[in-house]
Amino acid sequence: MDEQHEADYLKGLNNPQKAAVLQTSGPVMIVAGAGSGKTRVLTYRIAHMIASGIDPFNILALTFTNKAAKEMRKRIENVVGSEAKNIWMGTFHSVFAKILRFEAGKLGYPSNFTIYDTDDSKSLLKTIIKELKLDDKAYKPNVVLNRISAAKNSLITHKMYQNADELTSYDSVSGKPEIAKIYNLYAKRCFMAGAMDFDDLLLKTFELFTTHIDVLNKYQHKFQYVMVDEYQDTNHCQYMIVKKLAAVNENICVVGDDAQSIYSFRGATIRNILNFEKDYPDLKVFKLEQNYRSTQTIVNAAGSIIAKNKDQLEKKVWTSNQLGEKIKVLRAVTDNEEGRFIAQSIFEEKMKHQSAHTDFAILYRTNAQSRSLEEALRKLNLPYRIYGGQSFYQRKEVKDLLAYLRLTVNHKDEESLKRVINYPARGIGKTTLDKIQLHASEQGVSWWDIVCNAEVFPNLGAAKSRLADFATKIKSFATMLATNDAYELSMHIAKSTNLLKSLYDDKTVEGISRYENVVELLNGIKEFVEDDSSELEKNLGVYLQDIALITDSDKDDGSDDKISLMTIHAAKGLEFPFVYISGMEENLFPSQMSTGSRKDLEEERRLFYVGMTRAERKLTLSYANSRFRFGQLLPCEPSRFIGEIVNDFIELDKKAFVKRSDGDKPEFNRFNKRKSESTEKSNLQNKYGRTNQKQTTRSLPPPIVNFVPDDTTEIKVSDVVEHQRFGKGKVVLLDGDFGNKKATIEFDEYGKKQLVLKFAKLRFVKN
Ligand code: ATP
Ligand code: MG
Repeated sequence: MDEQHEADYLKGLNNPQKAAVLQTSGPVMIVAGAGSGKTRVLTYRIAHMIASGIDPFNILALTFTNKAAKEMRKRIENVVGSEAKNIWMGTFHSVFAKILRFEAGKLGYPSNFTIYDTDDSKSLLKTIIKELKLDDKAYKPNVVLNRISAAKNSLITHKMYQNADELTSYDSVSGKPEIAKIYNLYAKRCFMAGAMDFDDLLLKTFELFTTHIDVLNKYQHKFQYVMVDEYQDTNHCQYMIVKKLAAVNENICVVGDDAQSIYSFRGATIRNILNFEKDYPDLKVFKLEQNYRSTQTIVNAAGSIIAKNKDQLEKKVWTSNQLGEKIKVLRAVTDNEEGRFIAQSIFEEKMKHQSAHTDFAILYRTNAQSRSLEEALRKLNLPYRIYGGQSFYQRKEVKDLLAYLRLTVNHKDEESLKRVINYPARGIGKTTLDKIQLHASEQGVSWWDIVCNAEVFPNLGAAKSRLADFATKIKSFATMLATNDAYELSMHIAKSTNLLKSLYDDKTVEGISRYENVVELLNGIKEFVEDDSSELEKNLGVYLQDIALITDSDKDDGSDDKISLMTIHAAKGLEFPFVYISGMEENLFPSQMSTGSRKDLEEERRLFYVGMTRAERKLTLSYANSRFRFGQLLPCEPSRFIGEIVNDFIELDKKAFVKRSDGDKPEFNRFNKRKSESTEKSNLQNKYGRTNQKQTTRSLPPPIVNFVPDDTTEIKVSDVVEHQRFGKGKVVLLDGDFGNKKATIEFDEYGKKQLVLKFAKLRFVKN
């Protein structure tokens, strides 16, 4: 290795970081606070290994999201070049799916097994619950799936579950004694359909390594160096697999932060960190204490929050970054107003600091909160992207085409077959489907077997020939698998099933958007085929495997300048200069379910800590006094978490009312409530020379910014406005009548322009 080269990349590390990077052999653990460079250490460590001559094929790095893996790979590539491509790097699920693709046959699965997403799993459970004639109110697919998932993550198979008295008696007590039976059927049906659900990707890998020692040996030999980021959120199954993989070489490095463990509801256990020392007595532990991400205010405020938790490892965190602005707390009357305040604030900060949209993130506790935020951003023409939630791949039309593709690759895929057997409509009605289901369960075969042999079942009547045609069609697609790439075949399928045409013919707004989505999917497949940065084959089977594990947050185009919206869970490991945490209300954050026990409340507090520590430069918290939830407008109280932040670090919005955790005395921010309202009122009157009726009521919102969005009917000569494209300018002339009003504006950069107000989307700006 070139000495100069080494010195270059090691220069970007402090001493403890460097020590951890250089310690490439043996068991290593880094437990350190947020923003202290844990992920950076992992990245540099891998780069250093490759630069020192370790074969990248022998390195396995497990990250929390595919996005994180991509990011790491890019950085490593900067140091070591294209060798970085050969590292096995990705989420547990994606790496194990890759292993299973090679080894599935040993477990009796086809190598082109389908990966069922949560929707598929729920749909299958629904069918089973119906077949067993159980009450679907007691057995909600969601709840049953969680139970099965928890069992799988604890390595409890369907066979073990039936004999696990503790579990079955818990089920009986909670009114769901048949869970074991459902789990059993569910596992069998998945197997019959050649399908694995998300949890199976972990469980089956574990089974593979337990039952096929030769296979385990092969991977132990291959992955001589194993690294895991966000180790605090691994569950028992992941822990066991990692332990098995590292058992021979013991070159294992895990990094994490117990204060950021936020997935215990999915079976993640902090014991994995605590046990690590016991598992590896030769363990070398490195401590990182300097935070490089955030201002002193943010670091200290986050520290003051996490200090409230009793269960945690002792850690120091400090930063030499600047003090920074105080944490701002915004209070709104309704959730819609909260959205508007945040949008306005982003708009202002953006202007003030000339920041990009990507510098901003709005975080929330639950996906449903995004609606009011989205509306407000749209009104101000602020571009945004939602990560998670309803992802592109979850949209009906996208799933429909994908179902055809999946069925082509794996005919036994029951959920896909059900989806497309009568779509577009081909006269195979519900009665026929019920009969197929009955025959399939009676015969103990897959739906596909019945469809292919319809003539055997007299009661299928006239549908027989339609079923035969359908089967012939799917088989004909399959014959093209070997000769056509994924794009050619997908396009052929989209056309010859009439799916593309039927969407094209629908000229409603929704229809057009559905058509565009399917075209977008086809574009994506084309990109996959044309991407020469990966060595993968370009056939449909590989494509499906590739996308099965993509979540929306991973489908990052990277280049787009957009504000990020996501749940706090999805924000783990990320950082943004400006962060807004919305919905800081009791029963929302902390969530209603968590306030009953200290353990659950502490997890919510860790989640808040994760949210706060995403912010580099400025953190803003917001809450509303009322929020539309569960179909009704509910009154809300500010979150106890706001009150837990040491007072010195926060600046409450005028009128914000927060109970201090250190005493019951309520705190009004410096202002007497009455006085602040009348001051606001006169401010508004002065600024616009008129009184806005709506804003003079008692529920007057605090004027955190003094411009009125979207109210260009009120525009006057000499107002300063901003146009999305032309920037800032001053109104010099108004003419035209209502509905066709035009403004002549002198723009700072673009000179004079006459704009029709209806289309101009102007915004008032502070003078
Ligand atoms: P989290 O717990 O949130 O995952 P982390 O400990 O993984 O945080 P990183 O994301 O690795 O922290 O680092 C936080 C930020 O600090 C990143 O922007 C990183 O590039 C920067 N950073 C880390 N170490 C250094 C350093 N020695 N010099 C300069 N910048 C650093
Ligand atoms: Mg990290």
